[in-house]
Amino acid sequence: MSLRQLVETRINYLALMNKVYLKRKISNRISGGHPWIFGNEIERVDNGINPGDIVEVFFSDGKFVGKGYINPKSQILIRLLTRDRKQQINEQFFIDRIAGCWEYRKKIGYVENCRLVFGESDEMPQLIIDKFNDYFVIQTLALGVDLWKGSFVKAINEIFKPRGIYERNDAPVRELEGLPQQKGFLSEPFDTKIIINENGLKFYVDLENGQKTGYFLDQQDNRRAITKIVKGAEVLGAFTYTGAFEIHAAHSGAKSVLGIDISESAVKQAGENALLNNLQEVVRFETANAFNTLKQWAKDGRQYDVVMLDPPAFTKSRETIQRAIAGYKEINLRGIKLIRPRGFLITSSCTNLVSPELFLQIIDMAAKDAKRKIRQVVFQTQSPDHPVIRGIESTQYLKFLIVEVQ
Ligand code: SAH
Repeated sequence: MSLRQLVETRINYLALMNKVYLKRKISNRISGGHPWIFGNEIERVDNGINPGDIVEVFFSDGKFVGKGYINPKSQILIRLLTRDRKQQINEQFFIDRIAGCWEYRKKIGYVENCRLVFGESDEMPQLIIDKFNDYFVIQTLALGVDLWKGSFVKAINEIFKPRGIYERNDAPVRELEGLPQQKGFLSEPFDTKIIINENGLKFYVDLENGQKTGYFLDQQDNRRAITKIVKGAEVLGAFTYTGAFEIHAAHSGAKSVLGIDISESAVKQAGENALLNNLQEVVRFETANAFNTLKQWAKDGRQYDVVMLDPPAFTKSRETIQRAIAGYKEINLRGIKLIRPRGFLITSSCTNLVSPELFLQIIDMAAKDAKRKIRQVVFQTQSPDHPVIRGIESTQYLKFLIVEVQ
């Protein structure tokens, strides 16, 4: 037996060892295709399994479920990578998967900038890779994918010949997996303040210090959806971040645009983006807390033709969902009060736990409280490079609504 065969036999032997059996009575979520397996759904785990290992999962009757990675530290004990027992989980597996993600993005027309890998939607749970033209940002948000980070870098190098790769693992969710928060280069160092093109406009993206991976690619189609209704309008945008919506509005013929954000550095970058597109005459930015400011401006009698709201996620846990609902209701009520008759509210929610139906109900409540009738113009989700998978609710997280406010 050659050394290689010996090693492979050993690997197969270990793979055989790593078995997990589910309880008899579990919800049909797993058989329905959902990739998460919770600790309380498991009957028995083989001895000798290490955190991050690939395991084989079986139903209680011995039928094969799939292969995935395990982490006893996490409430989601196992996340499945495949339902095909013959598939070996190794470096080539991840390289092939990432190549598949790229083929899909090319097919649907998201080439220059895109979310190349969207975790569960691409059957690589908790792995995020954003492509910003020749630069890539990686997040490995669970131990089971963190261990394969080198393979992801290899895949990107093989497929794209990138100018730079950056790790943005400074995400608090990593702590739930027992992982440290960290960021840094996964390629030769490069200037992390880059410029991207979106819908014919230019934006600086700060890959090192920007929020999340530096830029919110999920709104790229939604930014295009506002172009008609902002023509000739006085526009207010709250939660502007680096001004992407506001600069689209200014470019699309708005009369004036004001963007506000609580973060001083975001406002500074938004101003730089206005200059980059030569729109500084039309759009300006201010540092302000949207909750207090919108309330005060409504009292002062200020009015706008279009108000845009794009707040951060208000909660990540079910315990505080009521507070998130109250937050959305409050901010949308404040926004609606500032809108002239027959103006428009453009409002988003990226809170996973707020379903599209619930979001619409919240906006209805806000309109009712403001004693205004609303008429729906557009209701959609994130751009398709962040695919939605039926049955995996967390993959449809963004709600984007435009209503006429009568
Ligand atoms: N519209 C942006 C993304 C917004 S992200 C885009 O298209 O890129 C949410 C923003 O809300 C962040 O920049 C954050 O700094 C800001 N924010 C959070 N709380 C706020 C508050 N109370 N008032 C104003 N801005 C706030």
